[in-house]
Amino acid sequence: MPCYLNKYANLIRAKARDLGFSGCGISAAGFLDHEARRLDKWLKAGMHGSMHYLENNFDKRVDPRKLVEGAKSVISVLHNYFPSKVQKDPEAPVLSKYAYGTDYHFVLKDKLRELLAFMNATIGEIKGRAFVDSAPVMDRAWAARSGTGWIGKNTNLLVKGAGSFFFIGELIVDIELATDTPAKDLCGNCRLCMDSCPTGAIIAPRELDARRCISYLTVEYRDQLPAEMRDKMQNRVFGCDICQDVCPHNRKAIPHNEPLFNPDPEMLEMSSEDWHGMERRLFNRHFARSAVKRAGYKQIKRNIEFLMG
Ligand code: SF4
Ligand code: SF4
Repeated sequence: MPCYLNKYANLIRAKARDLGFSGCGISAAGFLDHEARRLDKWLKAGMHGSMHYLENNFDKRVDPRKLVEGAKSVISVLHNYFPSKVQKDPEAPVLSKYAYGTDYHFVLKDKLRELLAFMNATIGEIKGRAFVDSAPVMDRAWAARSGTGWIGKNTNLLVKGAGSFFFIGELIVDIELATDTPAKDLCGNCRLCMDSCPTGAIIAPRELDARRCISYLTVEYRDQLPAEMRDKMQNRVFGCDICQDVCPHNRKAIPHNEPLFNPDPEMLEMSSEDWHGMERRLFNRHFARSAVKRAGYKQIKRNIEFLMG
């Protein structure tokens, strides 16, 4: 391999670190054979529930060369979002940690665009696109291929010594780069996430039935929530971190240092009563920048009312 490919890769990793990314790995763009078979089986079993958009663009989803013209490399980046503080009232409806601060889609995309601009300025003319959970890209698969971590039995990407509270983004670019090797799977015999999932959504290692997952039910599912789920939801109002919270690798998680991911301090102080009585005005104030805003006030109200029975 020409040594300049290594030099470019090192430049990109160093810049990614400067931008606040906690991990950066590179893979050659190509067909995701194993993942394509798994995705096909998962979709055919209907485990994606009402997320019909996942059925679209199958070819692009499993091959980034069909998504970005001339794609040669996938640069995966990770951004820590583990918070230093959590909600104060243990009885209050629980918000997933990823939704505490500014919507990660915007934060990561801005940083990825900066990374691409840096590459253009230092390496040469490079065409590429930034993706953050926004297009048919199998982000965990690429992050794992790029050696940033492994896919745990809870289907999250796990980073050795740092856990799983990371956002993932990608730059798909038309330049060849030195690639990384996949990380070792360190789940071993552990199955804490599977045994702790209150709804039994992890039906096998790395196999999630989204229709049973609290995260899907509270964020994506728009119909009436199934009554039998109420007692199992452990007061989750938006997303669910249970299978991450129990993971031994997350005992080593350290808080992020990205000010944009800090929550509205008043939101952390909200009592159970505050949540139950929350009006649209307050919702807009607490979640003006958060990913919660995407779900909308009505969806959060529906979830709160459902939890209250
Ligand atoms: S997010 Fe919650 S409901 Fe979904 S698999 Fe994990 S523990 Fe189960
Ligand atoms: S809880 Fe155990 S099995 Fe699940 S992801 Fe963590 S290490 Fe792997």
